[in-house]
Amino acid sequence: GLASRLQGVFGKLKGKGKVSDEDVAEAMREVRLALLEADVNFKVVKQFISSVKEKAVGQDVMKSFTPGMVIIDIVNKELTELMGGTQSKLARANRPPTVIMMAGLQGAGKTTTSGKLAKLLQKGNHKPLLVACDIYRPAAIKQLQVLGSQIGAPVFSMGDQASPVDIARAALEEAKANNNDYVIIDTAGRLHIDEALMEELRQVHAVAKPDEVLLVIDAMTGQDAVNVAESFHSQLELSGVVLTKLDGDTRGGAALSVKAVTGCPIKFAAMGEKIDSLEPFHPDRMASRILGMGDMLSLIEKAQTNIDAEKAAEMERKMRNAEFTFEDFLEQMAQVRKMGPLDQLLEMVPGMNKMKGLKDMKVDERQINRVEAIVKSMTTEEKNKPDLLNHSRRKRIAAGSGQTVADVNRLIKQFDDMRKMMKQFSTMMDGQKGKKGAK
Ligand code: GDP
Ligand code: MG
Repeated sequence: GLASRLQGVFGKLKGKGKVSDEDVAEAMREVRLALLEADVNFKVVKQFISSVKEKAVGQDVMKSFTPGMVIIDIVNKELTELMGGTQSKLARANRPPTVIMMAGLQGAGKTTTSGKLAKLLQKGNHKPLLVACDIYRPAAIKQLQVLGSQIGAPVFSMGDQASPVDIARAALEEAKANNNDYVIIDTAGRLHIDEALMEELRQVHAVAKPDEVLLVIDAMTGQDAVNVAESFHSQLELSGVVLTKLDGDTRGGAALSVKAVTGCPIKFAAMGEKIDSLEPFHPDRMASRILGMGDMLSLIEKAQTNIDAEKAAEMERKMRNAEFTFEDFLEQMAQVRKMGPLDQLLEMVPGMNKMKGLKDMKVDERQINRVEAIVKSMTTEEKNKPDLLNHSRRKRIAAGSGQTVADVNRLIKQFDDMRKMMKQFSTMMDGQKGKKGAK
């Protein structure tokens, strides 16, 4: 999938202290391939890559202590932008009712989504009226009625003999009479776009004058979703898109391309067959989901505000070369302290929470103070060459810091463990995680 692929790419970058122009170019090639494989429209991919490159150059990625993270950050922001940037709200009529017309191919999820949307509106204290304008599919009216009774929303229908245009017209009257502030018109779909369907939708549109025309798209259809969106948009001015079946094993390409190609924002995402599985679409969350990053971004933000980049790079180099000393250990503690509880930080790193033993690693303030006392009782030489710490030196340090020899021993053991863990951590960041194939 796209996530594991990108993680693989960035894993390689993360492992590097310095990243060259060629590294970035290679990463971009991989991103490009990954997006194409995820069924993202090729024009969108091209545009995407060039804007990421532009931003990467502008931000002086090379100077950063974690170039991979900076690039992930840029990619994530661009993905978010590509999907509309901020959340796009449902339109609202100046004078009720607000009319919402659903459109889309057969099986996309129009009827189900109509019911879900009604439920969502009810939660906001609205009184939606569902309108059954699909007179062709035998069970369509019944399906909408079942959904309506499930959530206690009225369903307007005139059977399958009346024309969709007449049904829409009468439904608006009904809504006004009953003070329904939203009207949701469920329409028919075909397996393929055809002229007869479009003509009918245009007629319903002309009568209902919807404030919102939502194209319902099955996220599983990938590249095809873009073609569908394009042709619906050219025939019937769409105001938004609903992506359904995001609970499935979708490759995410549809979400990425639809907004970029049609200019129509994705307003809702459906993640299941249940009536309450419709959510407002959040571009930033979708981007994170596509990248499979967990809360990586908040971690990046924390790191950027609190860690001195030059110092951290030096630290990383030392750890790699096993030159990490007690002096550095203290420095590290101080940095971590500025960022907040270590266990919380580690939880934000994808994959970290799976690392053995990490869950039990709790950092408490008193512990840090004790550590500080012990380290400060060491001579500079001892701090820089931990191997010097034989038994008599440990005894002296214990006495000087007011701790027991056992405490000192424990700290030295912890220090060694930390060095080992850091090594493990950087190996993992080198791309091990990508290979295991995150979803
Ligand atoms: P319509 O022909 O566009 O009205 O599509 P329907 O609303 O009848 O939905 C077609 C099928 O897709 C039904 O079996 C729905 O239960 C299913 N469906 C709709 N939305 C979702 C969704 O978000 N996730 C899943 N898993 N199934 C969905
Ligand atoms: Mg239907």
